[in-house]
Amino acid sequence: MTSGKINVTVENIFPLIKKFLYSDHEIFLRELISNATDATLKLKHLTAIGEAAVEIGNPKIEVKIDKENKKLHIIDQGIGMTADEVEKYINQVAFSGAEEFLEKYKDSAKDTGIIGHFGLGFYSAFMVAHKVEIITKSFKNEPAVHWTCDGSPEFTLKPADKSEHGTEIILHIADDSTEFLEDFKISELLTKYNKFMPVPIKFGTKKEKEGENEIEVDNIVNNPNPAWTKKPSELTDEDYKNFYRELYPMQFDDPLFHIHLNVDHPFNLTGILYFPKLTGDLSIQKDKIQLYQNQVFVTDNVEGIVPEFLTMLKGVIDSPDIPLNVSRSYLQADGNVKKIANYITRKVADKLKSLFNEDRKSFEEKWNDIKIVLEYGMLSEVKFYEKAKDFALYPTVDEQFFTFEELKEKIKSNQTNKEGKIVVLYASNKENQHSYIANAKAKGYEVLLLDSPIVSHLIQKLEMDNTDFTFARVDADSIENLIKKDDEIISKLNETEVLQLKEFIENTIANKNYSIQTEALDSNAEPFIITQPEFMRRMKEMQAMGGNSMFGNFPDTYNVIVNTNSEIAGKILNETNETVKTGLVKQALDLAKLAQGLLKGEELTAFVKRNFESITATKN
Ligand code: ADP
Repeated sequence: MTSGKINVTVENIFPLIKKFLYSDHEIFLRELISNATDATLKLKHLTAIGEAAVEIGNPKIEVKIDKENKKLHIIDQGIGMTADEVEKYINQVAFSGAEEFLEKYKDSAKDTGIIGHFGLGFYSAFMVAHKVEIITKSFKNEPAVHWTCDGSPEFTLKPADKSEHGTEIILHIADDSTEFLEDFKISELLTKYNKFMPVPIKFGTKKEKEGENEIEVDNIVNNPNPAWTKKPSELTDEDYKNFYRELYPMQFDDPLFHIHLNVDHPFNLTGILYFPKLTGDLSIQKDKIQLYQNQVFVTDNVEGIVPEFLTMLKGVIDSPDIPLNVSRSYLQADGNVKKIANYITRKVADKLKSLFNEDRKSFEEKWNDIKIVLEYGMLSEVKFYEKAKDFALYPTVDEQFFTFEELKEKIKSNQTNKEGKIVVLYASNKENQHSYIANAKAKGYEVLLLDSPIVSHLIQKLEMDNTDFTFARVDADSIENLIKKDDEIISKLNETEVLQLKEFIENTIANKNYSIQTEALDSNAEPFIITQPEFMRRMKEMQAMGGNSMFGNFPDTYNVIVNTNSEIAGKILNETNETVKTGLVKQALDLAKLAQGLLKGEELTAFVKRNFESITATKN
């Protein structure tokens, strides 16, 4: 037996490791299983090229809890280590690595930007163990060795009687880490970090039916050949859906479609992204993409790697080329990472374009489920906007879908405003804006239904890119003002009458948030119409979405358009009984408010009461 001192300058490195990595203790298991996996794959490789004369069989990794003795075993059938190799790789490499790591990061210990703590390797075992043993036998014909270390830099090395090649790591779990002796905890960690690792991992046994009998078989916790490691040509649609269910067992909806990622130059990346059905609270649907490195789970926070607008997608990205021991800001500035983000954006755009080209109908059916991601992408990524222009859809209230080019074609001839700009009419809610939509449609105009939360930003951008176009919500003004017609409408009232009418209505309504405008509209158009000017409303909406705050504090102001050609306008003007005259104005205003969804609370109650009284009083 030999004993010695590990050559480190920090007298006792282990308490430091433990303290430093307080939040991430659980990753020790991932690190040890990664080492076991590497050792197994190395041996497979050596046998394949004829440099190791061993029977490889179907190697697996076993994780075993010995609760009674407070031990956790990780056993592999890999390459193993000779005594010299233990000296070199464990005593020197592993521990100098530990020291280096601490040196590098001790100042940034509080920097939450460090993700994954990759490369921690073997010594992360000391985060949960007060003593670690290694029993290992190399595939080379050399005796097995038994290394023990109790967390100080002292170690012992003695012969062991292991006869098969491979390594067994034994962790003597520390008193503050006994959770790692619980089946459910280890199970949870294996599922989280090792679900798709390339070597089968056995954790306990399970019962299985074999004909009449029940037999005990290994409980293999991982799928060593996940879909993303295969070629797209080997996979059916059903395979992709099954893999989605494997990734998200609690998810009941099928994904809308998938994108298989696969590059090896200038960086290595594989993966599958899924477009899920997006509904309700979008914030809880973020952070579902899982990041792996060579099938080892790293994190499900892909911020900085995947463009922001795609973080609502689901799926897996596997790339050994993403630096992990770095802060987020560094990650965002890294050239490789930028290239990865651009690649992903391009693949997503290409996939959408081909879906649009190949099956427009089905693309239209999916539109409402994917539009938020697309619209967000168009606003945040110039490159995506350039591509998405061709397939972004603008649905009408009657569920016809146009691209912007098609829409231009459709409306350019007959929908211009006073300045000669082509007007795109839209509604944000079919129910609330029903009467306005009906008015516009009665005149033969196309009305879009643009109802996603960021649509005001998108409209702004479309107007900047298409300066001969302007967007107006159907309730932004009277339809006659929004779209100019050649035939001038003649006013039934003369100027003095119009002024009298306006003054009376202003005095009756007496509310500075409602500004009265008189207009000679079609006599069958509504007598009172409440409108909200496009500019101010849009600015306020954009502000609410987190744009600028300039307009946020302004009250909602409305225009009340009084149609001087309507019968009621004439009636109000000519009524001599002041009470009746005032009553007419109030009733007309309430009806207009009702159409705009503005009649609420006390006002609504009074309105209903008044109208019941009025029909009760009506004699027949
Ligand atoms: P890394 O894996 O990043 O090289 P580690 O500290 O985890 O660093 O391990 C140091 C070295 O010890 C490894 O490179 C490997 O040569 C050796 N080693 C660790 N675990 C095993 C194992 N289970 N089987 C064979 N060799 C191992």
